[in-house]
Amino acid sequence: MSVEKARLVEEAQRTGTLANLPRGHFISSHFVPSVSGREMESFDPGRGAAFASFAAGDGEDVDRAVAAARAALAGPWSRLSPAARGEILMRASRLIAERAARFAVVETLDSGKRLAEAEGDVAGVVRAFAYYAGAADKLHGDNVPLGSDHVGVTFEEPVGVAAQIVPWNYPLSTAARGIAPALAAGCTLVVKPAEQTPFTTLMLAELLHEAGLPEGVLNVVVGTGGDAGAALVAHPGIDHVTFTGSVATGQRVMRSAAEHVTRLVLELGGKSPVVLLADCDLDAATEGVIEAIFENAGQICSAGSRLIVEEAIAEQLLDRLVARAQALRPSHGLSDAGIGPINSPAQLARVAAHVERARAAGNRILTGGAIVPPEACGGGWFYQPTIVQAQGPDDPLVQEEIFGPVLTVQIVSDFEEAVAAANATRYALVAGIYTRDHARAWRFARTVDAGQVYINEFFAGGVAMPFGGNRKSGFGRAKGMAGLRSYCKLKSVVARI
Ligand code: ADP
Repeated sequence: MSVEKARLVEEAQRTGTLANLPRGHFISSHFVPSVSGREMESFDPGRGAAFASFAAGDGEDVDRAVAAARAALAGPWSRLSPAARGEILMRASRLIAERAARFAVVETLDSGKRLAEAEGDVAGVVRAFAYYAGAADKLHGDNVPLGSDHVGVTFEEPVGVAAQIVPWNYPLSTAARGIAPALAAGCTLVVKPAEQTPFTTLMLAELLHEAGLPEGVLNVVVGTGGDAGAALVAHPGIDHVTFTGSVATGQRVMRSAAEHVTRLVLELGGKSPVVLLADCDLDAATEGVIEAIFENAGQICSAGSRLIVEEAIAEQLLDRLVARAQALRPSHGLSDAGIGPINSPAQLARVAAHVERARAAGNRILTGGAIVPPEACGGGWFYQPTIVQAQGPDDPLVQEEIFGPVLTVQIVSDFEEAVAAANATRYALVAGIYTRDHARAWRFARTVDAGQVYINEFFAGGVAMPFGGNRKSGFGRAKGMAGLRSYCKLKSVVARI
């Protein structure tokens, strides 16, 4: 453990918080309180206790932030060359790497996730800024053959002021995967982190201005979705909204964006299948399934929350999975062992309600199935790693996203049935398959409806691979060059010569 990380972990464990956390909105390169003067608290899910206060923003703060972003769009930022924008992003990447320990410890306190996972997130953010730093001056259009009397070219122009509505499960990495490409494209931004997890986004905004962003290019308004988020999405000064969160809120955001015909990318929920064919490498597949559902305590839109397994290996596999799940001890994220907490009491109650309904319906619960009593885990909000057998394709456990450490098991008799089961929900975010038969794996990849498909390794790829969903999982793509183009509007120019 680095000296800095050890010092921060010790401070957080001893005091329950960290000194010098940002608490204001970040507008025009300064931290400012809410116009209303109101504040709210953020909680450490591992202890179930408040650890810091921050500004509770509303429409007035959003107005200020959008005005700053609009002014910056017309300012020095618009005259910087793409290469100069890339240099700022590269400097930011290096600064994040230098301060990785602080970002990770704050992320763990705020979201609950295990420290190693938070460090992985920060490493991904370092890489995301480096990736888009390199992409900033490679965002070229096309030339189109129109014959000898005309020249036709296209330009990728920045969409303008981009809004980001960020969820609480991957606060820093979701913010970064929107901020980095939007800046590379030449946009300015207003970001609204989730009210449960505001701090690392505020730290990132300050760092980016230290790295050289001109005043007002990146603004952050903190506060609730109802007060700050809704005002931001509805603001006529916003040209593009990237929303990551639940289907119900995404639908609200879409309706609101319709008012001003604001461009929109929606990254919503999932009920993603992990298919295990009988010929798979059982050791690798077991570890893959465990990671796919229990990483971040299952609070991942792309979690592999539905195991679809061929009957021939089902019993053997389930024995292994149950043993692995039971070995995951609920522990505070800073202790970095076992499984971390659920982010909020509201989410914990939602997870428990899904499992209680399944229990009442007679579903077989193979392991887990209960809230961990707070006195058994330092007062935090924990749910036992849980594996439940589904009763059929219409079972709510198959159809509904739980967003917690609950794996649904569907047993099938062959490959065709597995593919049909994989496609039989209203979501289409990711899908995984484990098999040694690559022809089948590729057939699955081409047949399944999903934004991304993983073969023999779940959560593979990183920032270079485009990411997003179909159907109720949303539309539009983050990451990769597709993520960069989300922040561009294409212009065609034709000249008669
Ligand atoms: P959850 O219900 O788990 O909190 P949400 O999808 O509601 O998940 O939250 C994701 C993000 O959307 C958060 O930043 C939240 O503050 C924000 N949000 C919630 N409601 C709205 C809304 N009506 N308009 C815009 N953003 C919202």
